[in-house]
Amino acid sequence: MSAEATENEPSVADHQAELDAIATFFTSVVRVEQRSPLLRRITFGGGDLHALRWLSPDQFFYFLLPPEGHSVMSIDHTFTWETVRELPDVLQPRGAYYTLRHHRPDAAEVDFDVVLHQPGPAAAWAAGAAVGDVAALWGPRTAWHPPSDTQWYVLVADETGLPGVGAILEHLPADATVHVVVEVADELERQPLHIGPNVRITWLHRGGAPAGTTGGLASAVQQLTASPDWPTGPGYAWGGGESREMTAVRRLLRHDAGMARRQVSMVGYWRRTGEVGDDQDDRDDQDDDYDDD
Ligand SMILES: Cc1cc2nc3c(=O)[nH]c(=O)nc-3n(C[C@H](O)[C@H](O)[C@H](O)COP(=O)(O)OP(=O)(O)OC[C@H]3O[C@@H](n4cnc5c(N)ncnc54)[C@H](O)[C@@H]3O)c2cc1C
Repeated sequence: MSAEATENEPSVADHQAELDAIATFFTSVVRVEQRSPLLRRITFGGGDLHALRWLSPDQFFYFLLPPEGHSVMSIDHTFTWETVRELPDVLQPRGAYYTLRHHRPDAAEVDFDVVLHQPGPAAAWAAGAAVGDVAALWGPRTAWHPPSDTQWYVLVADETGLPGVGAILEHLPADATVHVVVEVADELERQPLHIGPNVRITWLHRGGAPAGTTGGLASAVQQLTASPDWPTGPGYAWGGGESREMTAVRRLLRHDAGMARRQVSMVGYWRRTGEVGDDQDDRDDQDDDYDDD
């Protein structure tokens, strides 16, 4: 289990431990399972994975994948972000961040649940992934830093944050008080979760609207904060989803619910692009950097 930080940022020692733990694990696909119309589970096994150590329940890795049109890696164990930038465009690895859903150290296997959104190079790789396909995983890293006095949790996610929600619910004590709010496309995208006696879960369906457009997560969290169910005492809120949706939830929790910066970790896992208003939204997001506690 990772040390829990007591400030809004992990301690210097924690942060150094996290940086030291970042490695590049070369491995290959050993199983693929279509969990739902949008979610594909990719299981990697073998290779360097015997050396993988647990960091935190939301631990995430950058998938380094063969370049478009290639089936072999263009990088090796000398990989660094500096050297990869010097590669020609045609040899640039494809990739994106994904959350480790399960780790079976004895079998040197890891599961990742990948959303098959369109279009996206990493999602396209996952859609066509087959046993034997090679990849490298750069990580682990974490954004899960609950203060040590935390008495309850709020977890907020779309499909991309759902693997983290699943892993966190399995990690927390069996009697933990947790409010979970998850938005998915429809009922078919719900995933089985470990629900303890004090876990309350709200599933939201987009009803045909594109991901990252509904504002549903913020509305549901607002209702929750205004309800008698909103817990007292120090809590911790973690979330992963579309960037602007996470910004809206973060603002609510910080400004309306009065949670301190160290109590809120809402991470933009992806960014809806190419629509009118993007530039203004970018400026809005940056304003949050200047929040006071
Ligand atoms: C810490 C962290 C953990 C993550 N964990 C997971 C995980 O476990 N599972 C998972 O599926 N994703 C996860 N993500 C999100 C994933 O990294 C992004 O969705 C990423 O953009 C996918 O890369 P891509 O190459 O497929 O698409 P990109 O090239 O990044 O984007 C292409 C287009 O697709 C759009 N797009 C990107 N993601 C989505 C989406 N989910 N739905 C709809 N449109 C989208 C973009 O707006 C863009 O227009 C995580 C991200 C972070 C930062």
